[in-house]
Amino acid sequence: MPEFLYEALPMRVRFRSGALADLADELDSLGLRRVLLLSTPDQRPEAERLAASLGGRAAGVHAGARMHVPTECVDEAEAEAERLGADGYVALGGGSTIGLGKALALRSAVPIIAVPTTFAGSEMTPVWGLTSGGVKETGRDPRVLPRSVVYDPELVRTLPVDLCVTSGFNAVAHAVEGLYAPDCSPVVELMAAEGARALLQALPRIVASPEESEPRADALYGAWLCGATLGATTMGLHHKLCHALGGALDLPHAQTHTVVLPYAAAFNLSAAPTALRRLRTAVSDPDPAQYLQGLARRLGAPRSLAELGMKEPDIDLVADLVVAKPYANPRPVTRDDVITLLRAAWKGETL
Ligand code: NAD
Repeated sequence: MPEFLYEALPMRVRFRSGALADLADELDSLGLRRVLLLSTPDQRPEAERLAASLGGRAAGVHAGARMHVPTECVDEAEAEAERLGADGYVALGGGSTIGLGKALALRSAVPIIAVPTTFAGSEMTPVWGLTSGGVKETGRDPRVLPRSVVYDPELVRTLPVDLCVTSGFNAVAHAVEGLYAPDCSPVVELMAAEGARALLQALPRIVASPEESEPRADALYGAWLCGATLGATTMGLHHKLCHALGGALDLPHAQTHTVVLPYAAAFNLSAAPTALRRLRTAVSDPDPAQYLQGLARRLGAPRSLAELGMKEPDIDLVADLVVAKPYANPRPVTRDDVITLLRAAWKGETL
């Protein structure tokens, strides 16, 4: 008999190829007259083009977003918004840029519109992150949830193929952990299974035909559902491991998720029968963990944490961080379990 608690988040989502042209309508529907566009330095040209298309509705472009949202980046963007008299933000980019928008919304409750260009899924969650003095703090707050999300598959056409693969696995990780989260519900199960299916079927097609737009659109659709899963549930061991690896060792976000996910899934799915059943159907394979690892390798993704720059003695340090505080997980986790898992992931052992 189903038993669950499900709280829907107030999300408005526009999804279509060419949806960027609808951004002005989105601004109007939210009553925004002068928005500041946020991007990374790399994506400044796209942000400038978008600002030009918005005419007087764009107050300017601030291309200062950086990984892990350092506090000084938020200070700079806030000062720029004040100077230009902006009444809202449009975050054009991946998790780093959307993260900057969220940190700004947390400070001043100014509305943000997210225009995602990766599959990371931050746009669908009320989770913020902020790094100060080398320490990353995260939290949940409904104020940081974008008021509107504009998904335009045209924007992921420039995402390099290797980043499509790892960013896609980052999204699938949300689905896998959402399926065994304590706050999973029938709605989340449907979103997570469909999101993982769509993404995992799209990734080999992107690698085979990088120029084709349809596989990228399918992957972005999957990323939306995986992001919504992340926003609705509490993540477990896998996200804890990746957070510790990223925070303590500065390992690259999406690549770390890709390497770790099969090991974390193999560890947890034995204690999560519903998630296992859903994933078996989604990937048409009796062993989803092995399937994930095989697929990532076939698609040329990094194989080991060593390859990402982790040194063997760091295993102990990361294990300490992972067991320092309790968190939700379908299977109890000891420090020895974490060490065994990290050793295998560090070496890139085949499951
Ligand atoms: P990212 O935003 O750091 O982008 C990586 C690089 O790719 C950047 O240089 C960016 O300019 C470039 N890029 C992005 N889209 C591109 C495109 N379409 N074409 C060409 N280049 C493009 O990477 P990410 O993986 O999207 O985000 C990672 C960050 O997001 C991490 O800090 C992570 O913690 C955070 N995150 C937060 C949440 C949340 O719910 N709060 C969820 C997922 C990720």
